[in-house]
Amino acid sequence: MKNIITRFPPSPTGYLHVGGARTAIFNWLYARHMNGKFVLRIEDTDVKRSTQASVDAIFEALQWLGIDWDDGPYFQTQRFDIYREHIQKLVDSGHAYYCTCTPEQIDVMRREAMASGGKPRYDGTCREKGLGKTDDAVMRFKAPLAGTTVVEDVIKGNIVFQNDELDDFVICRSDQTPTYNFVVVVDDITMGINTVIRGDDHVMNTPKQILLYRALNCPLPVFGHVPMVLGKDKTRL
Ligand code: GLU
Ligand code: ZN
Repeated sequence: MKNIITRFPPSPTGYLHVGGARTAIFNWLYARHMNGKFVLRIEDTDVKRSTQASVDAIFEALQWLGIDWDDGPYFQTQRFDIYREHIQKLVDSGHAYYCTCTPEQIDVMRREAMASGGKPRYDGTCREKGLGKTDDAVMRFKAPLAGTTVVEDVIKGNIVFQNDELDDFVICRSDQTPTYNFVVVVDDITMGINTVIRGDDHVMNTPKQILLYRALNCPLPVFGHVPMVLGKDKTRL
């Protein structure tokens, strides 16, 4: 049996909510039960909404729950060099490209896709242009155009996504900040995470993340998405 490594990656944009505490407990218990490791990572790349008070509240809540960690806390804002390195890997292997479409153009594409009954998506205008880096260029992932991506979820079973519904999503913004799905994958790879247990509000992100693991030539972790904890009004607690 391999050495299990789980993680808890809260975003410090408020208090630790009940659902977050619950996934922390699942990951911690599983790591302890399997004699593995539990990693704490603070996902603070949303600089506008992240606060030190929330970081402190997370530490306090974990302490109160009796949850300790074996590695970290890592802070995503201190890891930009690592993200840059991996973006370069994707560029070098032909899995990413620069896109200079304006927000207005993107808006038109989305509306056209929806008008023809599809999901709002980027239409691949810049995919084969071989554009270089410019101030207003974003970096997009070159996603497969056909086939399916299957999330083999240990809790929900297999979830099949059609690749033509996953568009060439942005992995790095024009201000050089990498996006959420990309940094999660790079972090999970470089931290050796092999078991990802998280709320099912993330299920839609998982196929994109799987494509990134493949493009980076890295083995997939085991995924398990647990139902969120909702209040009587069906919003999350
Ligand atoms: N930072 C994310 C959140 O707080 C967690 C992402 C994940 O588990 O992959 O919802
Ligand atoms: Zn474009």
